[in-house]
Amino acid sequence: MASTNGKPKLALYWASSCGGCEIAVLATHEKLLDVAEAFDIVFWPCAMDFKQAEVEAMADGEIDVCLFNGAIRNDHNAHMAHLLRQKSKVLVAFGSCANEGCMPGLANFTDREHILRFIYQDSPSTDNPQGVRPQLRTEVPEGTLELPEFWNTVKTLDQVVPVDYYLPGCPPEAKWVVAAVEAILTNKLPPPGSVIGMDVAVCDECPRKRDVKKITRFYRPQEIVPDPEICLLEQGLFCAGIATRAGCGALCPSVNMGCRGCYGPVEGVEDIGARLISAVASVIEAKTPEEIDAVLDTLPDPAGYFYRFSLARSFLRRTRMGQQDGRRVAEPIAEVPRLEPELAD
Ligand code: SF4
Ligand code: SF4
Repeated sequence: MASTNGKPKLALYWASSCGGCEIAVLATHEKLLDVAEAFDIVFWPCAMDFKQAEVEAMADGEIDVCLFNGAIRNDHNAHMAHLLRQKSKVLVAFGSCANEGCMPGLANFTDREHILRFIYQDSPSTDNPQGVRPQLRTEVPEGTLELPEFWNTVKTLDQVVPVDYYLPGCPPEAKWVVAAVEAILTNKLPPPGSVIGMDVAVCDECPRKRDVKKITRFYRPQEIVPDPEICLLEQGLFCAGIATRAGCGALCPSVNMGCRGCYGPVEGVEDIGARLISAVASVIEAKTPEEIDAVLDTLPDPAGYFYRFSLARSFLRRTRMGQQDGRRVAEPIAEVPRLEPELAD
């Protein structure tokens, strides 16, 4: 790969995410030393003292590879996505938030106003009788302090800028981080647009037996001690393994937890929630709509289960927005979701 000083230039950035993807990089353990040896790390604000201005001063395409983690949910996330796209030859959507919105994307079930009101006024631990909220601009003796505008809609990285590769996972397993780095160093990357990972589902890595048992209710993990040999879904424990890309070694089912879908949809599945609904339907023992409803009533927060990591990239993308007092606000969730959501902001 081309470089200006003998080593390819690497950038790592953290937008709207929890920081777990940065930990995944550190979880490569001694391989991290190989990364530091092989690359010239030119931007990694989480770990080293780099400034945004240093990136702005770079030539376009000067960074060879950028691993960008985090969703895009405010103006500054978007600015950094555009800046790093412009300065990078190869931009990798690194981790579930950049790939699919992940947990921040669940905010698309509501809107900016409801989130700010809860955080700064209504939450049980908040003591804020004046209802003070963060302001976009605040004048202080030293000048104007600015905060980025918080968006109504959380977006994936590729809904904002073109992305070259996708490395899914919440966070990506260290072995895939190493595999991606080695592929970059040896110029063995798959075709642009590819997901760096496996093409089969978590079920294919899971040793539990499936024999199409039917269930009459769902259980929460604390309610039963599951048989360690049998498929969790067939024991009434929600498991997203059937629709989720493998790569983790079926980590969660191996410890009696249903897969939650953090590696995103398996190849060929466009909308993980739709696929999960059909998987769940195939194990429900019910003949009438009433019986189906009764079984589904035992699954708390089905939308949260079906789209836990993927709402921002799904066909739904967000709750429909309406107008109230001149502001865009989330409409209550309709029983039949709309397939063409507004994504204007
Ligand atoms: S549904 Fe879950 S528990 Fe069942 S085989 Fe697939 S990954 Fe394993
Ligand atoms: S089993 Fe599912 S939720 Fe757990 S790590 Fe693997 S892909 Fe993620």
